[in-house]
Amino acid sequence: MIQAVRGTNDILPQEVMRWRFLEEKARSVFGRYGYEEIRTPIFEETELFIRSVGETTDIVEKQMYTIPEEGGMGITLRPEATAPVVRSFLQHNLAHEDRVQKLFYIGPMFRHERPQKGRLRQFHQIGVEVLGSGHPSLDVEVIDLLSSFLSEMGLSGAHFKVNSVGCRVCKPKYGELLKESLKSKVHALCGNCQRRFEKNVLRVLDCKNEICQAALENIPLLPDVICQDCRNHFDQVELLLAELGVSFTLAPKLVRGLDYYTRTIFEVTHANLGAQDAIAAGGRYDHLVESLGGPSVCAVGFGMGMERMLLALQNELEGKILPVRPFLFLASLGEQAFQLNFLLQKELRKLSILSEIDYEAKSFKSQFRRANKLGVKYVLIRGEDEIARKVVKLKNMVSGMEEEVSAEHVVEIILSQIKNQLSKTNELTPPTPLK
Ligand SMILES: [Zn+2]
Ligand SMILES: [Zn+2]
Repeated sequence: MIQAVRGTNDILPQEVMRWRFLEEKARSVFGRYGYEEIRTPIFEETELFIRSVGETTDIVEKQMYTIPEEGGMGITLRPEATAPVVRSFLQHNLAHEDRVQKLFYIGPMFRHERPQKGRLRQFHQIGVEVLGSGHPSLDVEVIDLLSSFLSEMGLSGAHFKVNSVGCRVCKPKYGELLKESLKSKVHALCGNCQRRFEKNVLRVLDCKNEICQAALENIPLLPDVICQDCRNHFDQVELLLAELGVSFTLAPKLVRGLDYYTRTIFEVTHANLGAQDAIAAGGRYDHLVESLGGPSVCAVGFGMGMERMLLALQNELEGKILPVRPFLFLASLGEQAFQLNFLLQKELRKLSILSEIDYEAKSFKSQFRRANKLGVKYVLIRGEDEIARKVVKLKNMVSGMEEEVSAEHVVEIILSQIKNQLSKTNELTPPTPLK
């Protein structure tokens, strides 16, 4: 038996309902904030990710699925979507439209990581990118949008952590300060961090290793070191977040694993995932557009892991997603009855009335068993006797009452039954035939 590739998951129909709920909620909330959906290809020139994500990041160093091509760096399955969105923004001259572009995307990403709970090699993200302004209110807007989305999904206990990593000027200065303060402890850091110390010292702050964490105890902190402009920007962010009532904590050691971030960065964690895994993370990236060959355009955004979001939502989705149940079961005995029911099913479909039928022409008994399992409201019964008398029987599965109705008018009768049901209860599950 061939199995799915390690680190990939099938999403079975039952579960797809949860995914769709998440996606549709995102489209609705993001739409209300004026964000528009963009869809980019799932693979891009490898160079795009090397230049944007950063050569010394884990993603570029060891997690990319790259297919070699002659005379170039090949093509790579996207490990994240910010770079592709920026590439598309540039390619289609969206920078020249006189407005802030507010975009969102939903789709699969690919990273060659060690698979574990909430971490797959094909995983899915919903993300937002705002391009065209460096105003701190936009940092706040995307955080507020994310916070609204989480609360509308019914997720409680999400924890927002916010920091500023400074700009092109003060971020490298901080790097030097950090290097200075860690210099005497380099030998004590983990192997990874010893390399990071040389190539990209800020990434030491990301290390989960306890020894490295201990070495970081008395280091200078970003918010104390960033330049005045960055300080003012971050003050505005803190102020506006507080005024909007978004609860957050300052996390002065938070840096993100991507090189392109400037100024505000943030992440959202949740207890259901353990403290170390973020549901969502993002920040400002004011020079990425430029570094990919575009004009100077400031931008901010975030990505949210859908698998992780669904893990965090484990219990909150109970009862919110109703299974789609057929309204009636069409039971037939004999080939002719089956054919009439088969044709009737088409009429019902035109009216969006969901029904089930037995293709294997089993006994009435087994058809009723199936009807019971499905939880249908009615069973329509048609055998040779009914055909001869041009009737069908309709059995109400709740009351157990059975009545004989004209075969010719059965569609209208079913419709009126549905209207009846709807007026009595709201229990009828979608799809309903009535608007
Ligand atoms: Zn600065
Ligand atoms: Zn380390």
